[in-house]
Amino acid sequence: MQIHKFLVLTTVLTGLLVACSEPDISPAIISAVPYAADSGDLLVRCGALIDGQSDNARKNVSVLIQDGKILSVGSNIEAPRGTPVIDLSDYTCMPGFIDMHTHIMEDDYTEMSDYYGHSLEHTMLKGREFTKATLMAGFTTVRNLGVYYGGTSILMRDEIDRGDAIGPRMQVASVYLTIPGGGGDIVIPGFPQEDIPAHLRQGVASGPEDFRAKAQAAVDGGAGVLKLIASGAVLAFGGVPGSPEMTPEEIAAVVEVAHAAGITVTAHAHGAQSVKDAINAGVDSIEHASLVDDEGIRLAIERNVAFSMDIYNGDWIDVEYRKQNFPEEFLRKNTETTMSQRQNFRKAHEAGVRIVFGTDSGVYPHGMNAIQFRYMVEWGMTEMQAIKAATSVSAGVMQWGDRVGTIQEGLYGDIVAVKGDPLADISDLENIDVVIKGGLLFKAP
Ligand SMILES: [Zn+2]
Repeated sequence: MQIHKFLVLTTVLTGLLVACSEPDISPAIISAVPYAADSGDLLVRCGALIDGQSDNARKNVSVLIQDGKILSVGSNIEAPRGTPVIDLSDYTCMPGFIDMHTHIMEDDYTEMSDYYGHSLEHTMLKGREFTKATLMAGFTTVRNLGVYYGGTSILMRDEIDRGDAIGPRMQVASVYLTIPGGGGDIVIPGFPQEDIPAHLRQGVASGPEDFRAKAQAAVDGGAGVLKLIASGAVLAFGGVPGSPEMTPEEIAAVVEVAHAAGITVTAHAHGAQSVKDAINAGVDSIEHASLVDDEGIRLAIERNVAFSMDIYNGDWIDVEYRKQNFPEEFLRKNTETTMSQRQNFRKAHEAGVRIVFGTDSGVYPHGMNAIQFRYMVEWGMTEMQAIKAATSVSAGVMQWGDRVGTIQEGLYGDIVAVKGDPLADISDLENIDVVIKGGLLFKAP
């Protein structure tokens, strides 16, 4: 009799449970094109959430994404009928990462002279491979700071935005604005300049008027940021990283065009003088800042100019480029800038310079971007500061703070997750388990 009663009771309870909660629908993984970009509806149940803004992680938070954007963030959110659910209760969720300095159309194994013969089709094929690798590594947004084949990064950005390719959101500089033979030019000793295809040198200019015209052409062609090469570069023939290439007047001409168009401008500047020249001319951020001096750091703080310091790739160049017999000049200049850049990273961070996450990917293979997190922690940031640098701080500097970089209502549903606790071990971010962009699932455990 007792047993019978118990059986009746459990049958009734089970019936009630079935009636109240439907089984969760799992989201499909996007692996083929075309797809409807930024169209996802998804409820993400996070065991821990780092939102990109707060100083602490929160436990058991859900994020509801509707039509690609975050609708609500909280602890008691139920999935609306028909909305897929992903259970990440064993994971730490974060905003999708931002890399502020990529060359996503180019790779590290290509000889400079090979670019002379690369077709548009070849460049786009490579771009599709690298954008996918970058997204799978957890980088849902990149700022692409230059491509030799002018305009291809714009085509890539638009393909991804249409859902015809898989990759991060892209803010693109299109070309390098650089002096003839400068760090963004592709001249090689022994090759006649007149034989270099014109599409590889669209941003090469001399004098303020020429720079103004080339900058305007980049803006008219669809660039979302301008990149100028103020000082010599490590991976270019003849340039001296510590010495200026562009004059203050040339830099100011580019700044004027960018700001008139309502976009930001960033300066490649290794040397102390070029950092100061660029800040005084009004740029919004500095790439590399390897040899910055105290005055440059002071100016950056005073003018709220951000530093994007690629403090990982020096190790890659030293080992891998040496194996591949890259020019001795490149290896020497890399050695001359790598450790001073790391020391200056620590110094600038301690002084209070806004530091974003920029890696110069393409110098090393795309998809390894997250290795730099560990260097940023080793050289003075807390784990949380490094994560914020790659999320909300970068979003603010690229003026996309209303789209990406934090997990809050109204922004794109761009979320990445790892099984471990990146606040305990930052290298966990080198193995991202889950990638969601625009509410669509691109990678799952
Ligand atoms: Zn670069």
